[in-house]
Amino acid sequence: MAEVLVLGAGMVGVSTGLALQARGHDVTIIERGIPGRETSYGNAGLIQTEAVEPYAMPLSPAALIQIALGRGYDVKWNLPGLLSQVSAVWTYALNSLPAGHRRATLTWGKLIRQSTQAHAPLVQAAGADNIITRDGYIEVHRTPARMARARAAAKRFLDEFGVEATLIDGKALRALEPTIKIEVEGATHWADAWACTDPGGLVAAYAALFERRGGRIVNGDAGDLHRQGAGWRADDYTGEHAVVALGPWSPMLLARYGLKVPMVFKRGYHRHYRMETPPNHPIADFGNSVVLSPMRRGLRIATAAELTSHPRLTPPQLRHGEKAARELFDIGAPVEAEPWTGRRPCIPDMLPVIGRVPDQSNLWAHFGHGHQGFTLGPVTAEILAEELDGAPGWAEMQPARFKRQT
Ligand SMILES: Cc1cc2nc3c(=O)[nH]c(=O)nc-3n(C[C@H](O)[C@H](O)[C@H](O)COP(=O)(O)OP(=O)(O)OC[C@H]3O[C@@H](n4cnc5c(N)ncnc54)[C@H](O)[C@@H]3O)c2cc1C
Repeated sequence: MAEVLVLGAGMVGVSTGLALQARGHDVTIIERGIPGRETSYGNAGLIQTEAVEPYAMPLSPAALIQIALGRGYDVKWNLPGLLSQVSAVWTYALNSLPAGHRRATLTWGKLIRQSTQAHAPLVQAAGADNIITRDGYIEVHRTPARMARARAAAKRFLDEFGVEATLIDGKALRALEPTIKIEVEGATHWADAWACTDPGGLVAAYAALFERRGGRIVNGDAGDLHRQGAGWRADDYTGEHAVVALGPWSPMLLARYGLKVPMVFKRGYHRHYRMETPPNHPIADFGNSVVLSPMRRGLRIATAAELTSHPRLTPPQLRHGEKAARELFDIGAPVEAEPWTGRRPCIPDMLPVIGRVPDQSNLWAHFGHGHQGFTLGPVTAEILAEELDGAPGWAEMQPARFKRQT
């Protein structure tokens, strides 16, 4: 048994705490705020089993022209935001070409397929069943062209990955979602995925479980991490090992320890809207780059990616998403005065960073889950915990891959 400090109490940090604790370690999680109130709070709440391919950068000439002209809603950018991460964005683009994407998918697909299995015992032990739905989500296709592409994608996913999807026409969609206002061409029902109606609440429930099982969560600044003998100290807390699970803040800390981790910070926004009869499932309208998730606070409209250093007060992607949502459903007024914003921690090779930090004994990394950290936290926590206990770890996700580049 070892004393371990876990830095950060998002979905990834809390899952790490639980996995290490289950192996008999004495774990203290250091969080500067409240568990599950940053990126792990603001997501669309999907626990995905179908997202077997990591999110590639759209690279078709039409998509690139739209992005460059600032017309589309999938990726928005401004010059300071782009320049501050241009090298990481460039590498991400190169890895989005077929060879790189295929390589990342080999690993990513294995992780994603374990997600609901990994969450299941935690949801049950945490008593969080009331905020989980197990009937998947619906991806709507407004036009025949989008429906045809969806058919091809569903066939490919089944043939290559064994992922099942049900394709439905507009009429069948209306049977599943009677409050939808317009006739769309059809939809894909990804029925195996789960959804959470309170993502921050799920992390809080996992955090409470961790404490009930004897773990400690303390308020402190992980930025204070420093050596103490062969181990580590942050604020008033010490451990033989320290695990960096600070989501988008992780590279900043690791740079102090000689490891330069490239990251693309994909900003997203959400806002809740009052709704008398919310949809029965989360609705993805990817043609409008938006996901509509029924949540405890209202209908959460969550946006795609923005490469900006500072958030906008009236983000165009949210404005557009709200318009698209109002075409589909009767939606009331916003719940909050201002939108929430956070940054997806995306690694340019599209794989999370999991394992031993090179040249630093007993320092570990666990971050960089991009678009699916809420889904993957408990899956990759097992991998990190196994490696800390002596297993070789997964070579392709090791932090040492960045050492080779610098
Ligand atoms: C709009 C949007 C929609 C998304 N939708 C989905 C989805 O549907 N499904 C899915 O799986 N994923 C989704 N994601 C991605 C997912 O939310 C992230 O990958 C995941 O939350 C990352 O978790 P984390 O624990 O690594 O980071 P975080 O949740 O950000 O946790 C990091 C923690 O570190 C703490 N911290 C930072 N600095 C310090 C410090 N100095 N000292 C102490 N503590 C510190 C922070 O307070 C925070 O609690 C979405 C993301 C966005 C933005």
